[in-house]
Amino acid sequence: METPIMPTTQKEVTPIMVQPMPNWKPPKSISSPPTPLDSPFMAGPIRPRFSTRSVEVSIPIHVEEEKELVAPKKDITLVVPDHWLDCPFKEHGCHKKGEKNEVKRHVRDDRNLHLVLLCLSLNPIRSKINIQQSGYVDKYAGMLQYMNLAESSFEKFGSQHTFHVPKIGLAVVKATKNKSHRSLFSQPFYSHGYGYKMMAVAAPYGDGLAFREYFSVFVCIMKGEWDDILEWPFRCDVSFSILSDDKKELLTKTIYVNKVPEIQEFLERPEGLRNGTFGFQDFLPLAKITEFAADGDIFIQIKVLLSHEKLFEAEEIDSMECQGANVAGFKTKNE
Ligand SMILES: [Zn+2]
Repeated sequence: METPIMPTTQKEVTPIMVQPMPNWKPPKSISSPPTPLDSPFMAGPIRPRFSTRSVEVSIPIHVEEEKELVAPKKDITLVVPDHWLDCPFKEHGCHKKGEKNEVKRHVRDDRNLHLVLLCLSLNPIRSKINIQQSGYVDKYAGMLQYMNLAESSFEKFGSQHTFHVPKIGLAVVKATKNKSHRSLFSQPFYSHGYGYKMMAVAAPYGDGLAFREYFSVFVCIMKGEWDDILEWPFRCDVSFSILSDDKKELLTKTIYVNKVPEIQEFLERPEGLRNGTFGFQDFLPLAKITEFAADGDIFIQIKVLLSHEKLFEAEEIDSMECQGANVAGFKTKNE
């Protein structure tokens, strides 16, 4: 807001004009120009009593600036004694300076001025905050979109596959009756984008030593499209997790491929359609299988742990389970 030099105050204000008058004594606080607000002493001519307040605040801000152009600044600062205090509302635009008591009085008497000053300085902050806030909301919405994209990409291309074994009760019964139902095969999947082609195999009624006792689950490496550009042998640990109906991991077991010498030949680059399987013969006791079913089905999430980070993380979580488990369950169904 421009600060007009108000004509009504000209009479008293003249001393502060650019060319100081010969007989003029500077008022006590020359550097306290008023803020152009409806402070009582701004409304009309200066009150006759020579209160510091009325004189000081009538000094328009501009005068000081103009004066700077003509006269050196030290002329002004010289007349401001060191012990004078600023009005506590200085940062909000009040230029009052004076003795301690004087400033106290000013704060007490000029509440309206200070309120308006506060309003004026708060409003821009407020609108700035509003703009920032709506910016944050936009950013947040954008972030959510990216997260959804990332999640769906991970589901599509991430190092995992969810093996669905429908109607586990029936699958177990069928396996007891017919050899051809002892193994269930998943769709082939890739460990990751341009990764190893793999397949999961479940034996609902157990496999090998675990026959009739456990639900067994394995994976195998298949001949895949990207084998030429992959590292061999396969060196990724693989974790198997049973998922609840709300996608929580109920039971997780991880096979650390480097620690199981028996399966090393299954980790080489496949020459036939697929290698032998490796995993857990004793994955889940058959007696407990219904506890882990989600609406009668079993969902096993298979994660191929690609990075070192994941590898260590997995070791921390699963080392307990693996120590006691028969990790080296494997079948020799080489084709
Ligand atoms: Zn003030």
